[in-house]
Amino acid sequence: MAQQDFVIKIDGITKKYGETQALKGVDLQVRRNSIYGFLGPNGAGKTTLMKILLRLVRPTSGRAAIFGMDIQKESVAIRERIGYLPQHPRFIEYMTARENLIFTAKFFFSGPEFKLRERCDEMLAMVGLESKADRAIKGFSGGEKQRLGIALAQVNYPDLLILDEPASALDPLGRQAVLEIMDRLREHTTIFYSTHILDDVQRVSDTVAILNSGKIVASGAIEQILNGQNGTIYNVIVKGNPLSVVEKLNQIPWISGISNAKLNGNHVLDINILDEAKAEKHLLRTILSDPEIIVAEYSRKKFELEEVFMDIIKGEQ
Ligand code: ADP
Repeated sequence: MAQQDFVIKIDGITKKYGETQALKGVDLQVRRNSIYGFLGPNGAGKTTLMKILLRLVRPTSGRAAIFGMDIQKESVAIRERIGYLPQHPRFIEYMTARENLIFTAKFFFSGPEFKLRERCDEMLAMVGLESKADRAIKGFSGGEKQRLGIALAQVNYPDLLILDEPASALDPLGRQAVLEIMDRLREHTTIFYSTHILDDVQRVSDTVAILNSGKIVASGAIEQILNGQNGTIYNVIVKGNPLSVVEKLNQIPWISGISNAKLNGNHVLDINILDEAKAEKHLLRTILSDPEIIVAEYSRKKFELEEVFMDIIKGEQ
C-alpha cells in the first residue's frame, strides 16, 4: 500500500507519566477515509495517544506522522488540517450555539467573515442544530453539546477528525445521533475516534484497534478481528442421535473440532471450520447424509465484538 494511503502512522510511541507507563510502544496506521475506532477500557491510554498526535502531550519515545508530516516538527501545518473534539468540550455557556461556533472558528478559519458564517450555518445543519442555533448553550443537553463540538471540529474542512469518546457519555438517543453524524462525515474525511463502548465501534467503524494497558492487542478490519479470533463456527441443531454423524465429521480435515450439547431433547453441534468454502459446499450435505438426523436449525455463528474483546482482554491479563 502506498505511503500516502495512510493518514496516521504511529511507530513505537511510549509515554511515561512519572511511574505510570501509559503507552508501551504503540504502532498503528490509519488509512485515508476510514472510520477508525480506537477501543479500550478506561485508563488504557487512548486519550494520551490522541493528545500526543495533537502535540498536547509529548511522547517519551517513538515517532508518528500525520499526512506524512512529523508530529513533532510540523505540528502547525498538521493542526491546520485536523479537527479535534476533546472528551469534554467546553463552550461559553451564556452565548448561543451559533455565537460559540463563530467565536471559536474565527481562530482557525481561513477565509472571509461571510464564508465563515455560511460554513457555520452549514455545520449547524449537518449536526441537526439549526433550530437551536440561537439558544444559549446553558440549556443544551449533553448530546447537543457533543453535536456542536463535532460541528466545531468540522468547520475548517479538516482532512482528519480526531474525536475523543464522542458518544460515550450520552444517552441512547444522543449516541445514535452522534454516530449517524460520524457515518455521514466519512465521505468527506478520515475519522479516528476513541471509545470504550463496543457497540459504537461495531455500528460505525470499518477498522478497529484495541488498546489495553498501553499496548495494542488487536487491530484490523472489524470482520477480520471478529473472525480471526475464533475462526468460523457453524451452529447446527439436530433431532435424533447425532453420534455417527459427529464421528463422520470428525474425520474431515477442514473441521477442527465439534462440541455436542443436549438442549430440550435436541442436540446442539458447534462445528469449528478451517475452510469456509468447503464448509459451504459440503457441510450440510454431509450432515443430511445420515437418514436418522433431522436438521432443525443451521447457521453460521456470528461473533459479537464484545465476546472477542473480553477474550482478548482476559488473555492479556
Ligand atoms: P484512557 O483515555 O484510555 O481512559 P488515559 O490516556 O486517560 O486513558 O490514561 C492512561 C493512563 O495514564 C492512566 O493510568 C492514567 O491515570 C494515566 N494518566 C493520564 N494522564 C495523566 C497525567 N497527566 N498524569 C499522570 N498520569 C496520567
